Amino acid sequence: MADLSLQPKSIDRIGSGIRITWQDGAISSYSGELLRDHCPCALCKETPGHPPPQGRPPGPVSVKSAQAMGWYALQLVFSDGHDTGIFTYELLRKLAAESK
Ligand SMILES: [Zn+2]
Repeated sequence: MADLSLQPKSIDRIGSGIRITWQDGAISSYSGELLRDHCPCALCKETPGHPPPQGRPPGPVSVKSAQAMGWYALQLVFSDGHDTGIFTYELLRKLAAESK
């Protein structure tokens, strides 16, 4: 049986970011900056001694679109044009817990 805490019931755009209502009733909100800073793609990962090639630019960043990828993740497109970030629901749930 699927883990309800990792399945979104609805995903809404709010302000610069998104709000996810989960199947277990929890609600998590994320700003565009928070999501951009935690983008898990290879281009945003820091390697020792090198800044990430596509780290967050200065200034505000918002989520332009959020597209469900199967049942396990969301692909987010940011206002700075960055579109390679695949955020698994597991990661989003973890981010929500950490940013409380
Ligand atoms: Zn990225």
